[in-house]
Amino acid sequence: MLRQTDVVDADVVVIGAGALGLSTALHCVLAGRSVLVLERQTAGSQASGRAAGLFKSVQADELRTSLARRSIAKAASFADWAGVPLEVARSGSFLIARTARHRDYLRRELAQSRRWGADVREADPAQLSAGVSYYQAAGDQFAVWCPEDIYIEEPSSLVQAYLAACRRHGAVVAEHEPVTGIPVTNGRVTGVETVSRSVRSPVVVDAAGGWVRQVAELAGAFVPVAPVRHQLLITEPLTEIDQADPITRVVDAAVYLRPARGGLMFGGFEDDPLPVDPRRKPTSFTTDDVPLDRGVLRRLAAQVAAEVPMASTTQVAEHRGGLFTMSPDGRFVVGPVPNLAGLWVASGCNGSGFSSSPAIGEALATWITSGAAPPGIAALSPARFARLADDALITHGVWQYAHYYDPDTGETADVPARVLGPD
Ligand SMILES: Cc1cc2nc3c(=O)[nH]c(=O)nc-3n(C[C@H](O)[C@H](O)[C@H](O)COP(=O)(O)OP(=O)(O)OC[C@H]3O[C@@H](n4cnc5c(N)ncnc54)[C@H](O)[C@@H]3O)c2cc1C
Repeated sequence: MLRQTDVVDADVVVIGAGALGLSTALHCVLAGRSVLVLERQTAGSQASGRAAGLFKSVQADELRTSLARRSIAKAASFADWAGVPLEVARSGSFLIARTARHRDYLRRELAQSRRWGADVREADPAQLSAGVSYYQAAGDQFAVWCPEDIYIEEPSSLVQAYLAACRRHGAVVAEHEPVTGIPVTNGRVTGVETVSRSVRSPVVVDAAGGWVRQVAELAGAFVPVAPVRHQLLITEPLTEIDQADPITRVVDAAVYLRPARGGLMFGGFEDDPLPVDPRRKPTSFTTDDVPLDRGVLRRLAAQVAAEVPMASTTQVAEHRGGLFTMSPDGRFVVGPVPNLAGLWVASGCNGSGFSSSPAIGEALATWITSGAAPPGIAALSPARFARLADDALITHGVWQYAHYYDPDTGETADVPARVLGPD
């Protein structure tokens, strides 16, 4: 049997064992390729292990809707195609708007999502009151019921399922082995280097999450993302919460809630988020070093205090956070790195990398192994961006984060033309 450290040749090397890297690796190995995944820490120990685990069928454009719905279908049928069980909570979700502006926005989302095939319906106020034990509907609310939506209780279960499926199908996943070099010969990457070995490979996938830019820089390449902090909390168990309740997202307050560990999970999107660039940190920097700020969540909870008082008043059992990789237009950055044959990227999660990982990994693996991008996916290529200075990346990334649920985001985020490259 091949040991992790024996591998010095692979059809595909994936850098990073988060949800995006592991899904890409799994789909490549299912397509018959030999795959080596190299992980600096342990699988799922960074952003993927901190996720809220929410999957959302309502998205801002048709491509993201189809990727989100494909991912929900793949997560719910994981054992059928990956051969490993995965438990999902088929809770459904409510999208809720409490202002006139946000009601109009949700009505538009409802109409377009239906056009794009999602099963979404207007919910009457009684359905919301009766359907969610932790949410006390008050005032003039408009709600959309999204029965397709699911969540995964503990994010580590998706990571462990990917890991088990990768190994079962023959991928090698090596932990505690950071990639330290990506050699390039005649405009093509030839593999990767770690402290203990050189690995030859014609295909290297940079799926290094918050570290994606510095990994690309090992090959002299540029990935247009800015890492931005995101946080959530889980309360102590509360007897009054029905753990079978759905997810709720209050779009005007930019917050999400769901049952978790017998209590309530609460997270949200502040309008002045903290950019954190690991390139400017010591090499030892990990997600554990991302500073947490309970005040941000307190302020967000105050915005829904009338409907969900327990988000503000209950003892907190866990407060966690990590980094989103925000792209200038709020969309994934997936595909071949321009002008450098053999280097691919899976990034630009924009807060949805966990839930979109099944379909993103599938699409990227198809592109890598067939040589052709699946329909629509070429639009996510990193080649769509011009090379941007760090401050511009941060400005756009922060804007995308702050407008996660905001109507002004519209169908296509308003990215100035100068940000987009000639392609
Ligand atoms: C609090 C929080 C809540 C979230 N909630 C949700 C949610 O509900 N739904 C959703 O879809 N998304 C959610 N997200 C976003 C989601 O977690 C990310 O989009 C997703 O995990 C990104 O996966 P990834 O594989 O790109 O990154 P990561 O999971 O960070 O994986 C990247 C890996 O690369 C490794 N690496 C870095 N450098 C190297 C190197 N040189 N060599 C080898 N390995 C390296 C890292 O150690 C890391 O393990 C949330 C994020 C946070 C922080």
